[in-house]
Amino acid sequence: MNIILLGPPGAGKGTQAKLIEERHGMKQLSTGDMLRAAVAAGTETGRRAKEIMDRGDLVPDDVVVGIIADRLDAPDVKKGFILDGFPRNTVQAGALDTMLAGKGLKLNAVIEMKVDDEALVERITGRYTCAKCGKGYHDRFEKPKVDGICDACGSTQFTRRADDTEKTVRDRLAVYNKQTAPLVAYYGGRGTLVTIDGMADIADVTGQIEDVLKRV
Ligand code: ADP
Ligand code: ADP
Ligand code: ZN
Repeated sequence: MNIILLGPPGAGKGTQAKLIEERHGMKQLSTGDMLRAAVAAGTETGRRAKEIMDRGDLVPDDVVVGIIADRLDAPDVKKGFILDGFPRNTVQAGALDTMLAGKGLKLNAVIEMKVDDEALVERITGRYTCAKCGKGYHDRFEKPKVDGICDACGSTQFTRRADDTEKTVRDRLAVYNKQTAPLVAYYGGRGTLVTIDGMADIADVTGQIEDVLKRV
């Protein structure tokens, strides 16, 4: 099964993508994670992307389309993929259509996660991640069972993203509303779009997504 998680920054796409991976063996493809890895590795792509990401704009379409094209050919996406953070505008969505058609693949569902803007700001400014295994946490909503120790790997090192400040979140939300929100109409016209309530707690949202996956 191949799906897109569509939603603003902080909607819970990454959190839910990781849970779907564990349950269904589908592969999370997060362009944000891949770009951050490129920045950390100091590659040419990373150097081009860093400044753009820090101010919350979109990196050029050809960069992310190229990244996704490479990943779709890898053997670990055979059981299906979960696109998280891609596509982010109609140009990328069109490129995805062409890529999938060329590979004989189809999208089973586009799941739109709806969350109020103020809740998004609170989620993003409290977000942090295990530096070793990448598990996501939140200062209020998703704390480790033992304070300061990652549930998944026992690490005591955590990181916060440079772009997870209130100012940058508001800029990223504006970019989302202008460039990414039109994808709701883009996919809505084809009957692949399902909208879920992303304001619910993490387990409830997972339940809503499982219901969608059962139906498609
Ligand atoms: P996205 O990938 O859409 O940007 P994340 O999955 O990283 O969003 O979630 C943003 C932050 O909000 C994280 O700290 C995460 O732990 C927390 N979070 C995710 N889903 C929920 C939820 N349903 N309720 C409360 N907090 C959540
Ligand atoms: P979030 O879901 O919290 O908004 P992401 O990790 O998906 O954040 O993206 C972080 C940043 O990486 C974006 O603000 C943007 O600069 C860049 N980025 C990620 N995916 C794309 C994409 N598909 N197109 C353009 N830029 C992207
Ligand atoms: Zn960990």
